[in-house]
Amino acid sequence: MKLSIPRFWRERASHYRLVGSRCKSCGKISYPPKPVCPYCGHRETEEVELPRRGRVLSYTVIYTVPDGFRKYAPLILGLVELENGVRVVAPLTDVMPHEVRTGMKVEAVLRRVQEDGEHGVIYYGVKFRPSMEY
Ligand SMILES: [Zn+2]
Repeated sequence: MKLSIPRFWRERASHYRLVGSRCKSCGKISYPPKPVCPYCGHRETEEVELPRRGRVLSYTVIYTVPDGFRKYAPLILGLVELENGVRVVAPLTDVMPHEVRTGMKVEAVLRRVQEDGEHGVIYYGVKFRPSMEY
């Protein structure tokens, strides 16, 4: 495994703030942030902070998970539409597979997503949990 420390810290910081990138040409927003726009190929994007709340558009329950994710199985992967309409694919947490509903309101939280036992590294990323504040 190759780990770039500066890249890791940059990504970690952006995950914590739930930051995406907005294309300076077509204006579309990507998450996670990308240096090149995936919609039009434009090479100038800027960081934008995304709303932390949204709703579940659809979801998949994954029972077979790769090494490093096993203790989190089954993994519920959600397609979440944020309040500004941006769609994000991220794991759902604090909820059982049979409790997830399409249209369920969720909020972003920072949770560990993977452990690299060999290197003792723990990765954090954004997950979405059912929102209690509505
Ligand atoms: Zn673009």
